[in-house]
Amino acid sequence: MGERSPLDTMHAQMERAREYVALDDDTFERLKAPERTLKVSCPVEMDDGHVETFEAYRCQFDGARGPYKGGIRYHPAVSAAEVEALAGWMTWKTATVGLPFGGAKGGVVCDPRDFSEREREALTRRYTEGIRRLIGPDVDIPAPDVNTDPQTMAWVMDTYSTYQGHAVPEVVTGKPLAAGGTVGRVEATGRGVSIVTQRALDYVAKPVEGADVAIQGFGNVGSVTASYLDRAGANVVAVSDVTGGRHDPEGLDVEALRTHVATEDTLAGYDAATEVTNDDLLTMDCDVLIPAAIENVITADVADRLEADLVVEAANGPTTHVADDVLIERGVPVVPDILANAGGVIVSYLEWVQNSQQYSWSLEEVNADLRERLTEAFETTVETAEEEGTPNLRTAAYTTALQRTARAHEVRGRFP
Ligand code: NAD
Repeated sequence: MGERSPLDTMHAQMERAREYVALDDDTFERLKAPERTLKVSCPVEMDDGHVETFEAYRCQFDGARGPYKGGIRYHPAVSAAEVEALAGWMTWKTATVGLPFGGAKGGVVCDPRDFSEREREALTRRYTEGIRRLIGPDVDIPAPDVNTDPQTMAWVMDTYSTYQGHAVPEVVTGKPLAAGGTVGRVEATGRGVSIVTQRALDYVAKPVEGADVAIQGFGNVGSVTASYLDRAGANVVAVSDVTGGRHDPEGLDVEALRTHVATEDTLAGYDAATEVTNDDLLTMDCDVLIPAAIENVITADVADRLEADLVVEAANGPTTHVADDVLIERGVPVVPDILANAGGVIVSYLEWVQNSQQYSWSLEEVNADLRERLTEAFETTVETAEEEGTPNLRTAAYTTALQRTARAHEVRGRFP
């Protein structure tokens, strides 16, 4: 069987959890269908004077548990089906970690690498105008995703606020501090991955101290994860980016690598360690493999050859559904993305709460709240796996997420 589309993958993940959740067929079918997907055209005047019209989407997948929440992605591969799958994953992620949010996602079909700053701003403002009828601080709250950043969120906030006639910082999260962002948001996902990895090592009865860790992707999430795990005593033996990887069985100098990438924007040119390919990294003998780059990198073939004792999914959707079957068969535990990388949306929630209360918290308060929520979600997932006998932790997380979302639908009832 070949690999599937993201939406098929998500439906297959839901199907696998279905037998552990008390769900009737009608409710299950309802949970599989996105509530709405808005398609908008965004005409933008480019620097050379011509007008380019970009196709864009915002999907609100399920809002039973609270306002819709999810990022905005700028990428050539964006499609309605991809945005719907990503919005579904946000729904299960917010439910797994118990945030009072539903799930959403937005995307613009574009290749932003060649955009000037002005073109990026113009596209962001035009896209925000297109989706402003759908979003709002109590309705649907966007955040950054692939190729969008705090500056992008500041433009979304400004455009939305201009239409409202007053500042509405709580319409987006992941904003710069100067526009109402929260301390701790930039590092939140990597910090969360590091917290979850330490719990997961404990779960497989291995000490963090000296554990060999390989991380694919050395961007925001991968580099912050590497830094925290290094400080916790783990041995970060390999990291990579799109140009390839570096390996040192004695442990890499993570801070030197971060400094190199901060100045060069790539691992290329770092010569204080041995070069490896991304395939070498994914299949290397180590205690923990952390995919923190892009989706579908752990294919069935990679899963067959993988030698790590534990996989922690920092990226969204790094393991294909067929590869999941192989890892279940081989007994390799996988901490699923909807749990492992939920630190970002947890701190987004804390940013939204602070904005709504017009009050700011200290970094210590934000980090303590993040740790508590993630730890509790991890323990609940492990308990569900043990009590229900689910084949893997992903199915356990889905079981909790589907149960919580279905329960919200049940008590709210059906209209009309
Ligand atoms: P980023 O753009 O900062 O970094 C991505 C890294 O992956 C870069 O080092 C890049 O070179 C590398 N990469 C890209 N293509 C690759 C390839 N084909 N092979 C190997 N490496 C490749 O992105 P990020 O914010 O660190 O996000 C990484 C992953 O984490 C994505 O899947 C994203 O959806 C997920 N995620 C991010 C956040 C967040 O808060 N940033 C939250 C949840 C999930």
